[in-house]
Amino acid sequence: MHFLLIKVRFYNIKKKANQSGLSFSLFANNGKNMVEVSLLQYADDTIFFGEASMENVRAIKAMLRTFELMSGLKINFAKSGFGAFGVSDSWKHEAAEYLNCSMLTFPFTYLGVPIGANPRSYQTWVPIISKCERKLAKWKQRHLSFGGRVTLIKSVLTSIPIYFFSFFRVPNKVVDKLVRMQRRFLWGGDQEQHKIAWVKWETVCLPKEHGGLGVKDINVFNASLLGKWKWNLFHSQGELWTRVLESKYGGWRGLSEISRGKGESVWWRDLKLVFNQSHNGEIWKNTTEWRVGCGDKFKFWEDVWTGGEESLLERFPRLYSISNQQHKRIQQMGDFKEEGWEWNFRWRRPLFDSEVDLAVSFLSAVTSHPIQAHKSDQWVWKAEPDGQYTAKSAYEVCRGDSFDQQQDGVYEELWKLKLPSKIIIFAWRLIRDRLPIRENLRRRHIQLGDSRCPFCRIEEESAGHLFFFCSKILPIW
Ligand SMILES: [Zn+2]
Repeated sequence: MHFLLIKVRFYNIKKKANQSGLSFSLFANNGKNMVEVSLLQYADDTIFFGEASMENVRAIKAMLRTFELMSGLKINFAKSGFGAFGVSDSWKHEAAEYLNCSMLTFPFTYLGVPIGANPRSYQTWVPIISKCERKLAKWKQRHLSFGGRVTLIKSVLTSIPIYFFSFFRVPNKVVDKLVRMQRRFLWGGDQEQHKIAWVKWETVCLPKEHGGLGVKDINVFNASLLGKWKWNLFHSQGELWTRVLESKYGGWRGLSEISRGKGESVWWRDLKLVFNQSHNGEIWKNTTEWRVGCGDKFKFWEDVWTGGEESLLERFPRLYSISNQQHKRIQQMGDFKEEGWEWNFRWRRPLFDSEVDLAVSFLSAVTSHPIQAHKSDQWVWKAEPDGQYTAKSAYEVCRGDSFDQQQDGVYEELWKLKLPSKIIIFAWRLIRDRLPIRENLRRRHIQLGDSRCPFCRIEEESAGHLFFFCSKILPIW
């Protein structure tokens, strides 16, 4: 398919342009349901889409000119651009010249997201990485306490790339790079000099009450932010962006399909990867409750809407096999009468006597969840009191099963202490026995003349000895 787009920047435009009479548009489709997109407008920028034809180029020019004359607004041609796909370069140049625009070079940035860039390529992420690097480099780690460094890496990582993280799946290479950067900053090394990382990075990423420092695990953080897409695809049906994704890729249902559809973008394939990863899939399944309303979204047989963990298909495969209504949405399987909802089941053959018991329990399962006329089908996110998905709670749920819940509570108590964080973190390293004490240094093959305790000069300097057992230290306590 070939199409053109033109990005127009008006001087001082803050209100919507009236685009009635626009005769071109781009159809996003999978061959079945066409969704028309002709105009995107946000802040100062307006983007028009259309089929790449000279008639359209002329129409845009005439329209923009008329708009200028009528509204008195001026187009900022220096900040406007023209681009097209699937046509020759000479055609593009000719059209751009006619429009008096510069050529858009891909990728260009729209609302902070690079358009036309490949999110799997390291190059796309370089601006984000260097932004984080610059921010951290401003601070000379040696002027910051360990606690200060923890706070800083947390804030840098959760503020700068969050927009990208909620849009794209982060490639492994980028994750590695960001982790290395944080780790080096935390332990006080710089580009040239490597310092000892005293605590494993996985431990640093554990929540504080589970013995870590609460630094975010990038992969989990990324997945929980991307979860918004699935949630919103389900709940914002009818909006333009959802209609486009539904028409092109099958919307929220499409995200759970493992098979690869025709013409899927890298972005969509990456989203699917995130949701089809077994761990994420499980989390999603266990934390989402399907609450039936009028049956407008759920499939009667295939979706898990009658409570428990199984669909009606899984519970009653025999009845499913003789149903004439496979793959139907609930709404399509009955009617609202005066007395309320009435089911209208259709079977391929009459039920056998031996199937009567089965039919009874089937009916009781189905009728235990009343269909309500004026309510849409809902997902309820069980990790939040109000039932709405949040990246924060998704992150916690996702981390929740990756560490031992049986803790003795020592870390939880530790962080509750009303002490400067510097001291708490010192205690944290002491509990983990990760202080640069001679015994630990020796274990890490650091050359030491003498690993004995500098106070008594008898025992080896270990954390236990130094803090609790040394005969010279004990009287101080
Ligand atoms: Zn000693």
